[in-house]
Amino acid sequence: MTSLEYAQAPVVGLNLPEWFSENSSDCIKVIDLGGNIVHMNTPGLRALEVDSAGSVLGSQWSRLWPEASRSAVLAALREAATGTIACFRAACPTAKGTAKWWDVKVHPVKAADGSVDHFLVVSRDITDLQQAHTELQAEKEIMRLATQAAGLGLWRYTPHLAQFDFQNNLALDIFGLAPSCTTLTAQQTLHEHIHPEDQERLQAALHAACAESGQMRFQGRIRLPDSTVRWMEMFGRVHRPADDSPLYLLGTVADVTDRKTVEENLHNAQVRLAATLDAGEVATWTWDIQANHLSGDRNIAYLFSLPEEVAANTPIETFLKAIHPDDIERVSARIQQAISDRAFYQETYRVLARDGKYHWVTARGRVEYDEMGVPLQLPGVVLDVTLQKEAEEKLHASEERYRALFESIDEGFCIIEILYDADGQPADYRFKESNSAFLIQGGYEATPEKTVLEIFPDLERRWIHLYAEVARTGRPVRTQDQVTALNRWFDIHAVRVGGTGSSLVAVLFSDITERRQNENDLRRLAFSLAETDQRKTEFLATLAHELRNPLAPIRNGLQLLRLAGNDQETVARVREMMERQVTQMVHLVNDLLDIARISSGKVELKKTDVDLKNIVATAIEASLPAIQFRHHDLNVVVPEEPFPLSADPTRIAQVIGNLLSNAAKYTPEGGRIELTLHREGDGAVLQVTDNGIGIPAEAQSTVFDMFAQVKANMNYAHGGLGIGLALVQSLVYMHGGRVAVSSAGSGQGSTFTIRLPLNKTVESTRHVGSESQPETAAPFNTRLRVLIVDDNEDGATSLGALIELGGHEVRLAHTGQQGMEMVEEFRPDIVFLDIGLPDMDGYAVVGKIRQLPYGKKLPVAALTGWGAKVDRIKTTEAGFDHHLVKPAPLPMIEKLLSEFARKKAT
Ligand code: ADP
Repeated sequence: MTSLEYAQAPVVGLNLPEWFSENSSDCIKVIDLGGNIVHMNTPGLRALEVDSAGSVLGSQWSRLWPEASRSAVLAALREAATGTIACFRAACPTAKGTAKWWDVKVHPVKAADGSVDHFLVVSRDITDLQQAHTELQAEKEIMRLATQAAGLGLWRYTPHLAQFDFQNNLALDIFGLAPSCTTLTAQQTLHEHIHPEDQERLQAALHAACAESGQMRFQGRIRLPDSTVRWMEMFGRVHRPADDSPLYLLGTVADVTDRKTVEENLHNAQVRLAATLDAGEVATWTWDIQANHLSGDRNIAYLFSLPEEVAANTPIETFLKAIHPDDIERVSARIQQAISDRAFYQETYRVLARDGKYHWVTARGRVEYDEMGVPLQLPGVVLDVTLQKEAEEKLHASEERYRALFESIDEGFCIIEILYDADGQPADYRFKESNSAFLIQGGYEATPEKTVLEIFPDLERRWIHLYAEVARTGRPVRTQDQVTALNRWFDIHAVRVGGTGSSLVAVLFSDITERRQNENDLRRLAFSLAETDQRKTEFLATLAHELRNPLAPIRNGLQLLRLAGNDQETVARVREMMERQVTQMVHLVNDLLDIARISSGKVELKKTDVDLKNIVATAIEASLPAIQFRHHDLNVVVPEEPFPLSADPTRIAQVIGNLLSNAAKYTPEGGRIELTLHREGDGAVLQVTDNGIGIPAEAQSTVFDMFAQVKANMNYAHGGLGIGLALVQSLVYMHGGRVAVSSAGSGQGSTFTIRLPLNKTVESTRHVGSESQPETAAPFNTRLRVLIVDDNEDGATSLGALIELGGHEVRLAHTGQQGMEMVEEFRPDIVFLDIGLPDMDGYAVVGKIRQLPYGKKLPVAALTGWGAKVDRIKTTEAGFDHHLVKPAPLPMIEKLLSEFARKKAT
């Protein structure tokens, strides 16, 4: 039985063979149930470096152990007492203090009745083993730290399992694997983590290492989960633990992306350099200053048109010959300067190359000196920069064209650079460039020193975002918008300059504030025209109504007159009514004619120096019947002092009369009307106030407009056309005055105020009416032949009847032709000739009359609706002797007739 077999065998009784315990290299002891050492073999005593057995026998076994291990000892004894073998490993120094590790097994020793009555303890000295283990751990740690420091991942490939194990975090990191993913199939590793173009090569490398070479080296690309590609390098070596066990590959992996990039760059640079030198773009030379020998390579020979052997060694002057005559002086001077200043030499000039053309070259070099400061040599390079120079010139020319273009346009132009904040959000912009129209269009200077927010802190941020969006998307923007900070409107066109990622935006803009204003004005004008048009339509309807209105009572009146016979009272009443109606119609038509004349600028004021008080008196006189008819109470407050005015009295009377008759019209019966006159500074202020139906606030601004009638007041507008106040306003303006209305609203009465400038002195205060009322001449009893030519038969007949009443003989004609015939036939003393006739106008008729023998000196009076100075000139020029404005007042006609009668009689 080996000691090992014995140690594992159940021990019954204490019949321990002497040979066994003494020959075993282990420390074997017998312990009683009280934990005391009963027996210990000799090798055990040696191992414990105990001099005599007496010093340990009988002592507590657990006491031999250091404090730290004692609990393990007692626990083992307790466990063995239950009948099972207990084991533990612990350190315990020998009696002489030699540090030792022990592997201890406590066997229960049973009595004949099966109960445990002793323990057999076998302690094996495992100090060497423990040492080896500790060293192995340390080595492993060193290995770990070394691979970590070297950035090496560790892996193992087991071919018979087709499996990869990744053995440290770096390996996981390099392959982009999760910490839990330490084992992958070879298939997964290749297909999911290696770049498709490298999978086959890696497989071949693994296979070759396992099958033949025993080691592998592989460089390839790893594809990370986020699709980035990294370069890695794997080293591996085959291991086979025992001859018959399967082999595996153990290896390292390193991320070599950075190295690879450097290598590639280096390679590219080398390739470029070789290509550049080959292409002759760089030529090298060295000038031995003392010996004046310049040696150049074959590229120099080409550029300076020299045979290669000459270029290899010749005085500098040979080279200078090839330089363009315009540049040679400059080049020589610069070389001398570089030598004397110990400066870097650089110059760009033209040389005549072997291809017969001038090439632009840039020469560079640095002078080398000996320790005494004597210049020794000047080595350098010459670069052919012809293409670059041409490109520069083209760019320069294109920039000049571009600059000239954008300086010549009227629009403002600028290039802005969007500025972003720390979060990458657009926050501001800066002007990189601008043209001279910028200042005119933008109204400020686009200085590159300041950002736009520094110039305009109040600029709405949407402008910054708009341009930033153009820069981000590359989509141009065209817009018309208002910059509130400037209170102006702009037409703007913004385009990104450069490709994706550029923060430059070109902005072309023009100030359209005025254009927008004009558009708005036009819109307003169109609106007001539409409104005027609407009012005109309403006016025409009203006009038709108002003209028809008085006709009915007039027709009835005629009927009544016929029936009344000699009933004088009825005749008088009817005539009064008819006169009122006719007056209203005449008033209406006069207003219309006046407004037409004013709109076509045909009204001329016949200004005289008058006292406004007299005009007021006349106006009141004329309006009194209407005021009395509606039983109003009129209160007139006019001071004593004179109100000298230079005015057309008829027109001012018309103005005041209009206001008074409006006050009478728009005030319910029995109302109160007040007219006041006073001075204010250099002017007269006349106010007509009533306590009538008033004018709502919203209508007050339009009552002076043509055809304007207040909707709410329509029930009161008897016989109105909405032109009275327009006439008032125009006439007052023509006199340099102003008119205004005020009313607290519906039912609250109205006040119309007129301001007229007064004369400083009173020159004449003639009574108004002296001009306008024609003097009635004393009738002269000579019978005249009178011809009336008028296509309006009623007009002609009624005028004819009136003239006949004066005892004259009258003939009527209704066309020009008839008129002329009657001139010959009837031989009138005077002709009243209408201008508008159906066959020819009055001007033509008078012309023809003048050609008739009888007509040469025949007095002809024009009957016309137009009475302006130009109209009178026109009739005179046509050959008329007199000009009467329709409806010509009877006194005027009578005056004319009596003049003729007098002439005829004398
Ligand atoms: P109309 O011929 O209609 O009287 P006007 O031009 O004289 O035309 O007046 C315009 C409108 O102004 C009238 O239709 C009326 O509604 C209003 N108006 C004028 N005068 C007065 C007033 N004294 N009181 C109230 N409304 C008035």
